[in-house]
Amino acid sequence: GVPDVQTFDTRAIQELDAAHFLHPFTDHAALRDKGARVIVRGQGVYLWDSEGRQLIDGMSGLWCVNVGYGRTSISQAVYRQMETLPFYNSFFNTTNVPAVHLAAELVALAPPQFSHVFLTGSGSEANDTIVRMVRRYWDILGQPERQVIISRQNAYHGSTMAGASLGGMAGMHAQGGLPIPGIRHIGQPHYAEQGQGMSENAFGLVAAAWLEEEILALGADKVAAFIGEPVQGAGGVIIPPATYWPEVQRICDKYGILLVADEVICGFGRLGTWFGSELMGMRPDLISFAKGVTSGYVPLGGVLVGKRVAHALVEQGGDFHHGFTYSGHPVACAAALENLRILRAERLVEKVALETGPHLKAAFNQLATHPLVGHAESCGMMAGLNLVRVKGATAHACVPFARALHVGMLCRGHMFDNGVIMRAVGDRMIVAPPLVMTRAEIDDMAARIWDCLDLTL
Ligand code: PLP
Repeated sequence: GVPDVQTFDTRAIQELDAAHFLHPFTDHAALRDKGARVIVRGQGVYLWDSEGRQLIDGMSGLWCVNVGYGRTSISQAVYRQMETLPFYNSFFNTTNVPAVHLAAELVALAPPQFSHVFLTGSGSEANDTIVRMVRRYWDILGQPERQVIISRQNAYHGSTMAGASLGGMAGMHAQGGLPIPGIRHIGQPHYAEQGQGMSENAFGLVAAAWLEEEILALGADKVAAFIGEPVQGAGGVIIPPATYWPEVQRICDKYGILLVADEVICGFGRLGTWFGSELMGMRPDLISFAKGVTSGYVPLGGVLVGKRVAHALVEQGGDFHHGFTYSGHPVACAAALENLRILRAERLVEKVALETGPHLKAAFNQLATHPLVGHAESCGMMAGLNLVRVKGATAHACVPFARALHVGMLCRGHMFDNGVIMRAVGDRMIVAPPLVMTRAEIDDMAARIWDCLDLTL
């Protein structure tokens, strides 16, 4: 049913917001003129704003609310843990019960090469941890000159100094003295933009070969690790050709380089497998995660550590001088344990693979018949639409058109006003809905998207 939605004096909240609140990734002068949208309530896959307008959340908040909004069993688990032990740290030879159970459970869910977990408060902290951990690993092995971590253009790995340096977002690198030393970027496997004249699988091998070229240019004995999202999320739902990750794996193995999967978005069922690397044919040494591990109810992230690295750290490394006050926060871990129980009990990961993911694909293929859409791509519960000027034109020819059309305006303006939240990246409009979105709700979302595209014609 539709919950009671409290309405607020939107203007008053917007004025306070403009006066005092600095938002992430926001042009504040522009925001002050139009006023922030005030979200006040969530239930299932729907949100309500301060004026009572219902929105279907095509983005799971920020790619995180995998089990949907309004799960009382998570709030109850959090409440119970807060009453019992709201905080204690895991430094200095102490531990806590939810953190231990969560670590064991994550290792059980992960591919077989994983044995340990390091917990953080966010995905950015997880990736910072990885930068220090891989360099520490090579120190322990007596190869301290292996410092360089190779990443990809347009990747998103967080907003801390190391996270944003690993990321390949030009706008972020232009501010604040980034990147930190020892990070290199190669091209992304973006077939629609770069694969003209080639089959997808041939392009996958070409894109993977960029890694080998970079390794050889640097000298393999200087390279510590390669990091990538199984499917690039914030970069625009870039689904690599099937040949890409197996070939990257082969190259990493050939030179003994650690492979890191950033599963902050792809982890916990988004692609129809517990971890995206399983679907993509990767065998990573480290996995960073966050978001879907608690469905965003409480902040939590971490690093799954494979036996190769764990053995060096645990048996040979002594003290690793790294950690956060909130590493293993008992309340966050209690939320994660209940969230994982829901994912398992409701078989949500299998549903994405067999039911909702294929339905989203069909719905997006149908949207691709709209005159403004060139083609659609999807993988599990992630999908994108490429906008075009001339139906049938190559994606390449469309980019200037999509920019001219202000895809961002389309998503943030029309879409929001017409009750659907999606995101604009370059010439793409993308969604990553909650994994609980039913087939009927996918149809509802797709119908709203079609109507918004019509308004733009
Ligand atoms: N890695 C990926 C792939 C992400 O999408 C994000 C956030 O969007 C991060 C890392 C950073 O996570 P957080 O915002 O929790 O620091």
